[in-house]
Amino acid sequence: MDDLYREHILEHAQHPRNWGELPDATFVMRAANASCGDSLEIFLKIDEAGIIKAVTWQGDGCAVSTAAASLLSEKLVGSSIQKWESMSAEDVLRELELLHISPSRQKCALLFWQGLRSGEDWAVVQGSAEREQQ
Ligand SMILES: [Zn+2]
Repeated sequence: MDDLYREHILEHAQHPRNWGELPDATFVMRAANASCGDSLEIFLKIDEAGIIKAVTWQGDGCAVSTAAASLLSEKLVGSSIQKWESMSAEDVLRELELLHISPSRQKCALLFWQGLRSGEDWAVVQGSAEREQQ
């Protein structure tokens, strides 16, 4: 990671984007990383075609999980939730330019994405039959 990108990450950790609750969210996800103590809540508005229309999130996490959540949240709007669900952990780390970090830090960096992927729980939270069938 070059210095410029390191600064970019730190800046996101200090000033996370898309922070807060989303009043008209269609899905709310929670994710926690016990080994570091990070926890976060993700609010998504997804249309019938599976396109993410809006995202916010909030939580209590270390610099890496906060920066990664902030960076990823900026990439979500306009893309399909399936795209994110089908990505591998390596794809996501590459997207974040964080492939080189240690496995324990990778857990922090992947927490937000893991929340997105726990799609089965969405149906439970929201009672959406449509989601359950996918
Ligand atoms: Zn962490």
